[in-house]
Amino acid sequence: MIYALLIILGIVYFLIKYPKLRKTWYWPKHEGLVALMYHHIGVTDPNDEQFPFTVTPEMFEKQLQFLNEHNYTSISEHTLYRSFMTKEKNDICHPVLLTFDDGYEDFYTYVYPLLEKYHAYAIVFLITDRIGTTGYLSWEQIHLMEKGGHVAFGSHSCSHRRLRSLNDEEILHEIKHSKEVLEKVLHHKVRSFCYPFGAGGFDKRVRPQVLSAGYLFDFSTKNGINPWPWLGKKTILRAFPRGGEDLYDFHLQLTRGRSKL
Ligand SMILES: [Zn+2]
Repeated sequence: MIYALLIILGIVYFLIKYPKLRKTWYWPKHEGLVALMYHHIGVTDPNDEQFPFTVTPEMFEKQLQFLNEHNYTSISEHTLYRSFMTKEKNDICHPVLLTFDDGYEDFYTYVYPLLEKYHAYAIVFLITDRIGTTGYLSWEQIHLMEKGGHVAFGSHSCSHRRLRSLNDEEILHEIKHSKEVLEKVLHHKVRSFCYPFGAGGFDKRVRPQVLSAGYLFDFSTKNGINPWPWLGKKTILRAFPRGGEDLYDFHLQLTRGRSKL
């Protein structure tokens, strides 16, 4: 008993003393489609609850540089679609999807100006009830960015409620109505859906409804790296670059699908 306690205390001591041990560097590397999940790009206080969800504009730009320097290819939703339809890799090496949840206005301020510069593409998941409200993208910004060709928009439901806790009719409304709202204004099919609260937000009732509503791609918050070409058999896993992480963490996100244990 005492030995077990000593071993546990020893492990805790080493984890505290050597933070690198808490990272995933010893996990095997994975090749495939890396989807990165972002929320805010901006500056927050480390004590703010949004801190892990907020990458600074400087770090985000460094991450884009890192992708270019290390032969990653930021792919568009359209390229994902082409690969899905043809089931081919299309000669793309190290494909990366940049995805942004919730449709915050800081995407327009900080991310959009960088996309062209770094030949990067993004998918933004909009909460349709919040478009045009304080802190969120407006329709005008959405239109403007869509015209530029570097940004595609997907649905993140109407109200961002936990779909698991809703009845079937309400789930259908969140999935279908948000799609209709976006398609009415964007004048083309919306192909991507992102579950509010990710893996904890949906259950086995939800995915079939998402697919039968006509979405081709559904995104989770579960970490990992996906097969490439993408065949759509599962929900797309995403790596999650957090606020406060450095480029070594970013390298782990890209190669292990997760930076910390
Ligand atoms: Zn969200």
